[in-house]
Amino acid sequence: MRLLVVEDEAGLADGIRRGLEAEGYAVDVADNGIDGLWRATEHDYGAIVLDLMLPGKNGLQVCAELRAAGRWTPVLVLTARDGEQDEARSLDTGADDFLAKPFSPVVLSARLRALLRRGAGERPTTLQADDLRLDPGARRVWRGADELALTARETSLLEYLLRRKGETVSKLDVLDNVWDDRFEGDPNIVEVYVRRLRNKVDRPYGRDTITTVRGSGYRLEVGDG
Ligand code: CA
Repeated sequence: MRLLVVEDEAGLADGIRRGLEAEGYAVDVADNGIDGLWRATEHDYGAIVLDLMLPGKNGLQVCAELRAAGRWTPVLVLTARDGEQDEARSLDTGADDFLAKPFSPVVLSARLRALLRRGAGERPTTLQADDLRLDPGARRVWRGADELALTARETSLLEYLLRRKGETVSKLDVLDNVWDDRFEGDPNIVEVYVRRLRNKVDRPYGRDTITTVRGSGYRLEVGDG
């Protein structure tokens, strides 16, 4: 299995490389973001260890561009200690895991094994049906180029429908997943919210993405024209 390490600190990069080679991996090292992105695009690595602070292109840019290019190689990001923002941003950008420096080689190799098991299937960071797009990290929604102003609850409802797109979901499914357990109001609240959502994401665009399935619930259609 071939791995890519993108790290500009030569000593650290070398330590990681030697540790991983000792475990039987073939390891390539890139010492800047541009070379890292190029290698990650040109070769099929099993996984990538990606530092964030890099010359040329930072780790977040590398990860975002890789995903935009349709490359889903698992990425483990190396962050500074106390880098909570970096950790959150990395995951939202399409990284799969992170490890704060300094880290133990044992933990790094265990995390990589877990990523390798998961493989390089498509793991988009945004949910999409035709030109309707939702970014769950940023809680933002677009229809084509238009960004839509949805309330938090409307966004959650749309997120749920997008995650189950093509499937019929009942009002109760929606209540269970979009409202919390303590909700004891009228289940018809779902109808009200579905209507509001349609008025924002469908009607103004002459679309019919969110359909009512008589007697059973709702469905977000795939391939709505
Ligand atoms: Ca660095």
